Amino acid sequence: MSQQPDTDTLRKMRALLLKWFALYQRPLPWRQDYHPYQVWIAEIMGQQTQMERVVQYFTRWMELFPDVASLARAPEQTVLKAWEGLGYYSRAHNIRRTAKILLAEHAGQIPADRHALLALPGIGPYTAAAILSIGFNQPCPLVDANVERVFARLHDLEKPVKVAAGKKAVQKLATLYLDQDSPRAFNQALMELGALVCTPRKPLCQVCPLQGQCLAYCRDTVTLRPVLAKRPERIDITMACGIIENNGLVYIQQRLPNDIWGGLWEFPGGRLEADETPAQGALREILEETGWQARLEKPYQTVTHYYTRYRVTLHSFLCSMVESGLAHEPRLTAATRFAWVNRQELQRYPFPAGHRQLVASLNTG
Ligand code: SF4
Repeated sequence: MSQQPDTDTLRKMRALLLKWFALYQRPLPWRQDYHPYQVWIAEIMGQQTQMERVVQYFTRWMELFPDVASLARAPEQTVLKAWEGLGYYSRAHNIRRTAKILLAEHAGQIPADRHALLALPGIGPYTAAAILSIGFNQPCPLVDANVERVFARLHDLEKPVKVAAGKKAVQKLATLYLDQDSPRAFNQALMELGALVCTPRKPLCQVCPLQGQCLAYCRDTVTLRPVLAKRPERIDITMACGIIENNGLVYIQQRLPNDIWGGLWEFPGGRLEADETPAQGALREILEETGWQARLEKPYQTVTHYYTRYRVTLHSFLCSMVESGLAHEPRLTAATRFAWVNRQELQRYPFPAGHRQLVASLNTG
């Protein structure tokens, strides 16, 4: 195939892809009636999350918040709890803010207009294109990592797909290939092909409907495509926290609204300073964040959690209050409010990943 397929080849490829999609697409819950609200939520949940988890969270979400109005009226804590485990909590905050705007300014409906969508919190060019093409069947090209990979291989692109020139080339191809008559099915078909057949490792070229037109397959360069820019190295972060128990109750605090895990709950703690042991760090953090002198009883668990660029190791310690500690309420410096709850009640609060592992183990231990 030449770098630029002719009209007949394009028509043939679209037809092959659409036929394959009709036969092999996964029965995802938002594909039943393609309601724009459902498409929006599924797209936001799908960022950085595996499909099985998305389906699980999506199904529960729709039971809790079946439409924009129910979401807009839900308390922040209910929304965060429903999001708990998906990470990147700014997405949940933005969804809630957007729902409120939609209810106030768009009669609770998702607008079928790119400019109006881009004005909403958390909706960028990709999500707007997804809502317009999948939710409203409008002809907008849609490029995610799967589509990047498919085009990089179909056209044997030598430019890295994550840098500007490579992105531009892929976007141009997505525009060229787009099926104007069936944008909803076509965009999903491309993404589905990347997810199920043209996979990052060991693509199933033998069953690929586009094998006959694939330049990388023809040149035996499939494993070299897409060319990826060098990844920055993962940064190690070590943290420590104290699980303070007093009279059968555990101390937790809610994080400030504007930080990375804003609105979530946690055990007091933070990043270790240079030359500090985890135990010293836990006691210092408790003092800084609550004004309390705590006593370290024993080390509890050390948990590790991976983020895109970070590996966070969290050391935890069971702590008690020194006698004078309860004489005053905590002087909060890193939280908006606090609570003393028993171990079972901890489950009702949304926690970031590392702390949630501790909560799960406190309930089974
Ligand atoms: S033939 Fe192989 S590399 Fe080419 S698009 Fe199909 S699955 Fe991807």
